[in-house]
Amino acid sequence: MQIPFNRPFLADRELDYLIEAASSGHTSGDGPFTRRATTLLGELTGARSVLLTTSCTHALELTGLLLDLHPGDEVIMPSFTFVSTANAYVLRGAVPVFVDCRPDTLNLDERALEAAITPQTRAVVVVHYGGVACDMDAVTAIAARHGIPVIEDNAHGLGGSYRGRPLGSFGALATQSFHATKNVQCGEGGALLINDPRFVERAEIMREKGTDRSRFFRGQVDKYRWMDLGSSYLPSDVLAAGLTAQLEAFGEIQRRRHAVWRAYHAAFADLDAMRPVVPPEVVHAAHLYHLLLPTLEQRQDLLNHLAGHGVQGTFHYQPLHSAPAGRRFGRTGPGGCPVTAAVADRLARLPLYAGLSDAETGRVIDAVRSFRPSPGGTPTQRGHRAEVPS
Ligand SMILES: *Cc1c(COP(=O)(O)O)cnc(C)c1O
Repeated sequence: MQIPFNRPFLADRELDYLIEAASSGHTSGDGPFTRRATTLLGELTGARSVLLTTSCTHALELTGLLLDLHPGDEVIMPSFTFVSTANAYVLRGAVPVFVDCRPDTLNLDERALEAAITPQTRAVVVVHYGGVACDMDAVTAIAARHGIPVIEDNAHGLGGSYRGRPLGSFGALATQSFHATKNVQCGEGGALLINDPRFVERAEIMREKGTDRSRFFRGQVDKYRWMDLGSSYLPSDVLAAGLTAQLEAFGEIQRRRHAVWRAYHAAFADLDAMRPVVPPEVVHAAHLYHLLLPTLEQRQDLLNHLAGHGVQGTFHYQPLHSAPAGRRFGRTGPGGCPVTAAVADRLARLPLYAGLSDAETGRVIDAVRSFRPSPGGTPTQRGHRAEVPS
């Protein structure tokens, strides 16, 4: 039996809720399940205000609209992230400025942040890679000193914390993903978390096609009108129903994911230099488990070895700064992104999901432990052909 890289979680009450929503007469956005999911997300993240969206990509696009970006404005971000982190701002005419990652947590290197700030900088976007928090003390201090808002792309970080404070509560704005590959999923979905109250009213309008329809539905205005830029970023209440069931099961999802993460971490204790690093002030979100192999060749050999044992491992982000669109639309900060380039070649991710059984976890561990790197490694193509799950 194959062990796939990901199996989307299905919560106990999910099918009941989906049927309830589909037969309720309210299948468009902002129905009863959207309210339930929104409340649960607010409790989990401590965010002041929460808006469900159709994806994390769309929540990021909303942050681009809310920042009022103009051509030539700059947004600082890691190169080691998903394309949506950059596209959201490029769509508004801004220039992504890519900063390298730290070799331990693979998060944006806060030591390179200040040097990348210019008079054109409008925001700093951080990604808590694997659900391991960035150095938020340093990032927020530098951003505050320059009067620049911080945005958290918190796609990996739901349930994680930094010095006891939930991820998603640090940025003026933060985004979540409920894509099938994330800890909590409804196929395609996301959320915008708003911690700076100055953005609340406009975010609601921009998410509703640029209209004040949300206020109209609350009886606060007698007709709704075109007020601002906007698009259609509300998910159907049917998707929110699935999401509600998942969020109600969040404790169970995280217990199971953490158990797999801990089993891997204990089993690979003697490979310490290759294991993920979690600083003491951080509680991670068990979003992924990776090993950093010494070379690209060994990484490819390990993935091939795992495939031979029926285990689907995979690589992760290809650096944005050196990608065709990254070169065209963005630039790197001083110092470039040498760490990003190196770790992107060497990183292998293992299956990690709530439905992975103890026996399957053991099989993955045995498959990794039976790997013997060939001296020098087998040359393989850089563009190794596995699907890249986001
Ligand atoms: C998954 C992911 C996204 C995109 O999420 P979607 O909900 O699929 O749009 C954005 N940023 C990061 C860091 C991600 O991991």
